[in-house]
Amino acid sequence: MSSRMPALFVGHGSPMNAITDNPYRALWRELGGALPRPRAVLCISAHWETAAPMLCTADPPQTIHDFGGFPPALHAVRYPAPGSPQLVRRVLDLAGGDVAEDPRWGLDHGAWQVLMHLFPDADVPVVQLSLARTYSAGQHLDLARKLAGLREKGVLILGSGNIVHNLRLLGGSGTPDWAVEFDDAVAKAVERHDLQALADYGALPGATLAVPTPEHYWPLLYVLATRHADDGLRFFSEGFDLGTIGMRSVRVG
Ligand code: ZN
Repeated sequence: MSSRMPALFVGHGSPMNAITDNPYRALWRELGGALPRPRAVLCISAHWETAAPMLCTADPPQTIHDFGGFPPALHAVRYPAPGSPQLVRRVLDLAGGDVAEDPRWGLDHGAWQVLMHLFPDADVPVVQLSLARTYSAGQHLDLARKLAGLREKGVLILGSGNIVHNLRLLGGSGTPDWAVEFDDAVAKAVERHDLQALADYGALPGATLAVPTPEHYWPLLYVLATRHADDGLRFFSEGFDLGTIGMRSVRVG
């Protein structure tokens, strides 16, 4: 299906991956250069949670530096991509009243730290969709299914998070077994397209420590829910950053 855009789940890791020389950034650059050019990006980032789903209507969206304790060089990053009123209209139509408009948000670091390397010229319009913290995993999947047809309209669906994300236990000696076990169980469920197992991730080994809060995991569901039977599947990044941040990334299509 050459006219269907891929969908990507990107493990973003530390915000510093945006500006340091690291293998993830190199992969994002390479991937961006190889992708068909999208008409727009719909980004679901771990770093925008709201009570109910919101869609950023800002054009252009501001660059948000939603972190503390990082060097001035990271605060100086601007990603001046335009917004897309056309994509906003499409999402609102497809979501059928489930999504409200928010003119104030912009691009948080989960979005721009990846986008600035996928599309370094900032010339692809970007719209962000928030994560509803009141939603169950099943509700996230339902909303994502409603939006899946955007891929046929040239829209790149980009989920940005981390399958394993435990900041409290960062930087120990190596990667703990529970992180490897959870990442491995998720990878196997992704490979057999077992969305039920992925929605019920709490039952997978290591889940309690790997997903202490779900916001970094949920973006994965938005990407996988758009997968068709004839879509290819590839893990374009694997492994762990700082011990307990899973960098496994998935390309669908
Ligand atoms: Zn993050």
